[in-house]
Amino acid sequence: MKNSKIYLSPPHMSGNERDLIKEAFETNWIAPLGPHVDAFEREVASFVGKKAAVAVVSGTAAIHLSLALLDIKSGDKVFCSSLTFVASANPILYQGAEPVFIDSEPDTWNMSPQALERAMEEYYLQNNLPKAVIVVNLYGQSAKMDEIIEICDRFEVPIVEDAAESFGSTFKGKPSGSFGKYGVFSFNGNKIITTSGGGMLVSDDEEAIERARFLATQARDQASHYQHSQMGYNYRMSNILAGLGIAQLQVLELRVAARRKIFNRYQKELGALPGVTFMPELEQTKTNRWLSTLTIDEELTSVSVKQILTHLEKNYIEARQVWKPLHLQPLFEGNKYFPHSIEESISDNLFDTGICLPSGSSLTEDDQTRVIEQFKEALQNAVVNQVVL
Ligand SMILES: *Cc1c(COP(=O)(O)O)cnc(C)c1O
Repeated sequence: MKNSKIYLSPPHMSGNERDLIKEAFETNWIAPLGPHVDAFEREVASFVGKKAAVAVVSGTAAIHLSLALLDIKSGDKVFCSSLTFVASANPILYQGAEPVFIDSEPDTWNMSPQALERAMEEYYLQNNLPKAVIVVNLYGQSAKMDEIIEICDRFEVPIVEDAAESFGSTFKGKPSGSFGKYGVFSFNGNKIITTSGGGMLVSDDEEAIERARFLATQARDQASHYQHSQMGYNYRMSNILAGLGIAQLQVLELRVAARRKIFNRYQKELGALPGVTFMPELEQTKTNRWLSTLTIDEELTSVSVKQILTHLEKNYIEARQVWKPLHLQPLFEGNKYFPHSIEESISDNLFDTGICLPSGSSLTEDDQTRVIEQFKEALQNAVVNQVVL
């Protein structure tokens, strides 16, 4: 189907989801919680090698709970990767705290250890260290965890690992999302596996996860009546959606393999074009290639990111720019930002030159061919235009 729309990252069901949802119906475990939720939490915790997990309504809710557990409040600072989706930082605002943004480095596109170190030193001298660092693993690629953990340990600041995009990825053989005090996953519709909407908070601190579960269930005290002594949230995942999650988790490794295969094909067929560079993969890491992402050098391609996206759009192909860095968002105007070096902001550059191609694990080879051909055509159009001019 030549003109059917190709989406960036649509949900990809395995077929087994129906059985689990049916089971929930047949046992009438529809309403909040139930055996699927318990099983899904256990299975995710075990998959990433953590002692405990709590399933919640979204990745954003999981980040929010992690900040609540760290007792982050008004007046506190929280460091956060700048090149990410706004959901990484919104929970900092929910707590009334102040985000400070840290640039990327070129090898992983993730938090720059040297910028992080500069920021830590500056705030240390002011006796104003952050209460947490939110480290994002962009498009599936793990950040430079060794360096980041060393710096955070030195200044005794806990890490929240935002692994919303990197479920199934590894760093030196260890699962992404298992490195911080808290790890966060998202099962939103566009992520590598989905519960249509959902998230998970994991940790080795079982007591903390128990407390997260309490906060996420309206902070209801142990009593025969409804008794509350603290503010809580309604954040728990429903038993039906957890059923989806269990079935999706069974195919996670297949989904990673499929996305990696798509990336490799794009790279093979487009990576040699002048001015086209694919997102790197750091040595000793394995990215799930959640989104196949590349940058262009406009001087060599003679065509802009916007022109390429417009061409793809006209041909019913959904592609996107790389995340707009949070330090450039109107929402965070006035928040402090630490670039990779004094001369260079890496995330600004990635935003200006980056493109995410359709990457869903269900993308057929024919559709991949369509994307490849239209991407090439977008570049050729530029050459034709130049000749006409
Ligand atoms: C998707 C995403 C989130 C938020 O997850 P939701 O489940 O949509 O709330 C957080 N951080 C990053 C980096 C994401 O890509």
